[in-house]
Amino acid sequence: MADSRQLYQEVILDHNKKPRNWGTLVQPTHRSEGLNPLCGDHIFLTLQLNDQKIEAIQFEGESCAICKASASMMTTRVKGQNVEQAQQMVAEFRDMATGKLDVDHTEHHLGRLTVFSGVRDLPTRVKCAILPWHTLQAALHSKSSVSTESGAENV
Ligand code: ZN
Repeated sequence: MADSRQLYQEVILDHNKKPRNWGTLVQPTHRSEGLNPLCGDHIFLTLQLNDQKIEAIQFEGESCAICKASASMMTTRVKGQNVEQAQQMVAEFRDMATGKLDVDHTEHHLGRLTVFSGVRDLPTRVKCAILPWHTLQAALHSKSSVSTESGAENV
């Protein structure tokens, strides 16, 4: 367990120092805003879809380290994927973070995002880690905003 904890810390620190795909796309086809009032996480996500493929994705906003690292890694993971693949990853990440998906013994598409599997033991952090994924889901459904406290995450 010590190794995975250390890897988790390193990944979070790295993505906070150098968040990937940081910013706002000039001409997004899809966008959404995500809010987690319990922590104060507030992020903006812009996407450019072309023929059901995510060609570009950027995020910015104010958030804690876990939320920012999750968003940063999410953008690198879903970029170049099609909508169906991205939505599958949203479901897988949510199931992993809530403890429903055992990433060690089940096939999945999360890659290095499995460093977040430990948040299932930290209930207050689960929403921070999931927020970017809810926001992505909302953007793909052309919903302009999502809040972890509105129940809208079940869309
Ligand atoms: Zn947070």
